[in-house]
Amino acid sequence: MRIFFIPILIGSFFSAAAQQRCSTIENPADNISPNNIQYKQQGATPEDIPVITIPVVVHILYNDNSDNISTEQVLSQIAALNKDFAALNDDINKVPAAFKPFIADTRIRFELARVDPEGRATNGIVRKKTYQSAWKQDDRMKFADSGGSDAWDSRYYLNIWVCRLGSGMLGYASFPGAAAEKDGVVIRSDIFGTINIEHTVYNKGRTATHEIGHWLNLKHLWGDKYCGDDEVEDTPPQSNYNSGCSSFPVIKPGSCNNSPHGDMFMNFMDFSDDACALMFTHGQAKRMRQLFSPSGHRRSILQSPALGAPWNLTEPVAAEAFRWQVYPNPAGNDVFLRDENGGLLLADEYVLFDINGRKLMQGRSANTIHTGKLPSGIYLLQVHTARGSATRKFVKR
Ligand SMILES: [Zn+2]
Repeated sequence: MRIFFIPILIGSFFSAAAQQRCSTIENPADNISPNNIQYKQQGATPEDIPVITIPVVVHILYNDNSDNISTEQVLSQIAALNKDFAALNDDINKVPAAFKPFIADTRIRFELARVDPEGRATNGIVRKKTYQSAWKQDDRMKFADSGGSDAWDSRYYLNIWVCRLGSGMLGYASFPGAAAEKDGVVIRSDIFGTINIEHTVYNKGRTATHEIGHWLNLKHLWGDKYCGDDEVEDTPPQSNYNSGCSSFPVIKPGSCNNSPHGDMFMNFMDFSDDACALMFTHGQAKRMRQLFSPSGHRRSILQSPALGAPWNLTEPVAAEAFRWQVYPNPAGNDVFLRDENGGLLLADEYVLFDINGRKLMQGRSANTIHTGKLPSGIYLLQVHTARGSATRKFVKR
């Protein structure tokens, strides 16, 4: 049976399954073992801090308007996180009696940022229309240059990118120690929050709970290998992951001697469905909170100005106008996209509309558009480039 389990495990990690619970793969170089944290004498230890509140910025990237999720939906996710991390989730009583003593209030909470990195007031939500229709696990959503949204200073904010993901991927996270500009979690827009979610399995916001668990240094319960170690004392060893909704007890053949209670399949760091992912343990809470020790990797969050009062009351300076022209205008058989220096501008995507807003043409990677077949009249040409998106009017002779 052991031989049987291992191929299932490996196959499920790397195949593009219909729904992939979590795509986070730990970079060993990023791993911060609690044993490596050197406590210093000055400053409060995590145990002294009653509640750690993490400022959050949510970057909503949308191509289709359906992905531009509402502020209420974002707030529903924050509320779900605060319940899950406090063991105040409505379904906590579903934890089997044998595991109830292990349930922990992590004393970690989440709040949308009230101050942005420039010191201006914010609601903690960045909305950005993008020419990218779906994203991969390659971090491009974290950079404005590739159609995404730049991270806010990750020393002071938890960055969450909410966008459409391909390959059935639900989300992924960076572990502590990742590059600052990529630090944060990515969640699929249609399963972020607990309201307006059509998905029947991932509708309680627990993909975010799980991924933020990784961001706070938690590993999967099976340590990503057969009977592996998650470096948490009070989670039983288990041979691999559980999916769906299991019945207590789950004792698998060759199950790392974890009888009589078996796998803690209802832990947020397993792969159970949202309805059956219910708890963190005291050991997991301790491991997460150790990041906030005086030399811990997320200590700086405690000094974040993001939840204070705005200190910059000036208006933002408008980004340099993205100037481009349609040439010639009036147009003949072709129009060219010209940048402000008179050179050709390559559009990542262009869309041509008539004066009534009807879409007539669309294309990618173009600097020339054939207009010979268009009737005489007025047209609108919208281009999307890494520098921005803008629309120009032109006349066809
Ligand atoms: Zn995971």
